[in-house]
Amino acid sequence: MGLFLVVEDSSIVQKILRHTFKQARIDSVLFASSMAEGRALYKKHADQLVAAIVDLSLPDAPHGEMVECLLAESLPVVVLTGSADADQRKKLLAMGVADYVIKENRFSYQYAVRMLLRLERNQYLTALVVDDSDTSRRVVSHYLHLHCFKVKEVSSAEDGLKALQEDEAISLVISDYHMPGMNGFDFVQEIRHRYDKRSIAVIGLSGQGDPDISVQFIKKGANDFLQKPFLQEEFFCRVTNNIESLEQLLELKTLATKDYLTGLSNRRYFYEEGDASVARSTKALMPYTLAVLDIDRFKPLNDEFGHDAGDAVLRQFSEHLGLAFSRFIVARVGGEEFAVLMAGLEAERAYELLDEFRRFVEAQMYILPDDDYQRITVSIGVRAGVDQSIHASITDADKALYLAKENGRNMVVMYEDEA
Ligand code: GH3
Ligand code: MG
Ligand code: MG
Repeated sequence: MGLFLVVEDSSIVQKILRHTFKQARIDSVLFASSMAEGRALYKKHADQLVAAIVDLSLPDAPHGEMVECLLAESLPVVVLTGSADADQRKKLLAMGVADYVIKENRFSYQYAVRMLLRLERNQYLTALVVDDSDTSRRVVSHYLHLHCFKVKEVSSAEDGLKALQEDEAISLVISDYHMPGMNGFDFVQEIRHRYDKRSIAVIGLSGQGDPDISVQFIKKGANDFLQKPFLQEEFFCRVTNNIESLEQLLELKTLATKDYLTGLSNRRYFYEEGDASVARSTKALMPYTLAVLDIDRFKPLNDEFGHDAGDAVLRQFSEHLGLAFSRFIVARVGGEEFAVLMAGLEAERAYELLDEFRRFVEAQMYILPDDDYQRITVSIGVRAGVDQSIHASITDADKALYLAKENGRNMVVMYEDEA
């Protein structure tokens, strides 16, 4: 995480902000009480600073001089002030502050801190601006830059589709409606044909006095719209809202596909992605191999050392498994059961890798919560792939695994070996 700067002379406000940062689990914050201090801190930490919260009236800078100073250094600034003066607000936004927050209550402080985090995360997001008007494109890009986005600009929908294809990092598209060639509606429709709302947010821009365009944008699949001319702050709010919902959807998706204890993928993900991967391998006439791994005599270990010790072993085992097979799909499919799908790998090579991993596990010391350690072994059943579903492959690999257990554990057994 980067570093944040707060320049604020009131010790009470500083205290509230410190508390708010702490609640948000942010500890990389520098505090200054005057412009002199703020400048000194900026000089010393310019490379690491991401954004600042700045008070407008400081003892040695009563008229927002600190804000101007940091903006001149291109540091994003969130103004935090007691002044609700509308003209001043307008002037500062025009100067390029990322936001203007009035000190009203604790929610204002929370908002300001959240905005700093937002700016930090925006640095890693790419926005695509699609508009045939140079002026309009420049204004939108400028606003996006003020909120730290990486920005790409194109002047037609056709180029927009190309840009999306070339750069998978684009997560926000802002598109005009009236454009020569493909118009905004067809563009949005085409985007939705290829990318769903969980991966790219689209905001449509509509011209003056044409309310129907806004509605149509949404119906074609845009997440939101803005009517020109719009206020800078309205633009910021819409963009922030849409990016936040996108992140929430992504988080839900991650939660739904990850195993909570180990961080590996879960069973559901393994089946979904596995079937897709098998289909790709089959189409490309490539072999694939599926392995099911089950830790030996795990129940006695749990019974003797406790559930936390068992969890610690599962975490370490998962980390090693994930690293050893990082090129492949690795998942925890049950309590102490794991699966690896190796696309593009012949059975013999897969066997070698798995047996090497088995020997690694055998030699490894697993650290328990009380700093004691324990050794474990693992049994592995393997099914070399032909055009089969993941479900059928796992059933076969399980049969081989059963044989490995029957024959004394700590071994790799191929399904073909069964007979
Ligand atoms: P085998 O060698 O035949 O595989 O014997 P085993 O003891 O490993 O197999 P069994 O299926 O009898 O026991 C698995 C145990 O794994 C039972 C359960 O208590 C434990 N287990 C399952 N999930 C978790 C978990 O999330 N955390 C911990 N600590 N233990 C778990
Ligand atoms: Mg077991
Ligand atoms: Mg088991």
